[in-house]
Amino acid sequence: MRPSADRAALHDFLGRHRRVLLTTHVNPDGDAIGSEVAFARWLASRGVQVRILNDSPTPAAFTWLTASNPIEVYDEALAETRFAEADALVVLDTSNRQRIGRLARHLDLHPIAVAIVDHHVTHDGFGQVNVVEPELASTASLVYELVREAGWLPDPIAAEALYVGLFTDTGNFRYSNTDARAHRMAADLVDLGVEPQLTTSRVHASAPPGRLRFFGEVLAELEMREGGRLAVMMARPEQFERHGLVGADTEGLVDMPRAIAGVEVVALFSEVDPGRIKVSLRSTGRVSIDQVCARWGGGGHPHAAGVQMRGTLEQARERVLPELAKLLATLEAEASAGPPA
Ligand code: AMP
Ligand code: MN
Ligand code: MN
Repeated sequence: MRPSADRAALHDFLGRHRRVLLTTHVNPDGDAIGSEVAFARWLASRGVQVRILNDSPTPAAFTWLTASNPIEVYDEALAETRFAEADALVVLDTSNRQRIGRLARHLDLHPIAVAIVDHHVTHDGFGQVNVVEPELASTASLVYELVREAGWLPDPIAAEALYVGLFTDTGNFRYSNTDARAHRMAADLVDLGVEPQLTTSRVHASAPPGRLRFFGEVLAELEMREGGRLAVMMARPEQFERHGLVGADTEGLVDMPRAIAGVEVVALFSEVDPGRIKVSLRSTGRVSIDQVCARWGGGGHPHAAGVQMRGTLEQARERVLPELAKLLATLEAEASAGPPA
């Protein structure tokens, strides 16, 4: 169990800083955005001056959430100003310095105090205070527990933001990180006024038609390998371009092959820009895939992980697919060894 000293140190840290800058990982997801919005509202309720600055733009599915708490997107001059005004940086939903993107350079120039609030196993602990709790389903879960223990009841917008973080990082309460604690938090948030049907449709019923056509094209070329246990998908730059999409728009696509009986691992190779490959891996629960991503500097969770690579789609496949085949072969060996005596 995590030592509670870390949480106490964070509360102390937040009590000492009055101008706080928040950020998260590149290509932010629902947990990243939801956690930032809720955290910002909590700090503002305590009279703290708070700004949010991210390396990458907010995906269209989550912009509605930022109406009352604007999220600024990186620009060198803007980052200079924000770092100069702030006396602390709180990093949410990643604990890898390189994952905050171009903000890392400004941190070198303005060495302000850093606190990390995260739930990833792979972390370099670059904060003065690091609250990293991988047993939690989402960073939003951690933010929720922190604000409650500080005596704040999330307002309706913060509650909805936390709900978005929780349901997106648990794959709509379907991934292996969906436990009683996650459902209890969801129930609390519904008590605070969140309407699940409304909030989930704000995220899931917000796609332009091009996104589904793009999904259709990629799914039409779905490749089944390793006796049907590995599903592989490829998205090429011209497909992103033709449908007017960006890398974050693949959200949801990597989950679709889980619907196929017998699938253990799904791999999606997206060439977001020419020569820049984003690899997304998902396991349905029997094998852990984060170590495969860690080999090339990525990471994530045992059943949901990713990595960015330079090169061609073919090169990325040649690196990753043999590793996945090896992992799946371990399942075969277990099965043929029979049940333990
Ligand atoms: P994705 O496939 O992008 O949805 O990412 C799945 C999980 O892996 C998320 O929890 C991410 O935080 C993590 N992840 C994705 N890409 C990277 C990366 N390049 N480095 C470290 N972690 C990553
Ligand atoms: Mn995330
Ligand atoms: Mn997360």
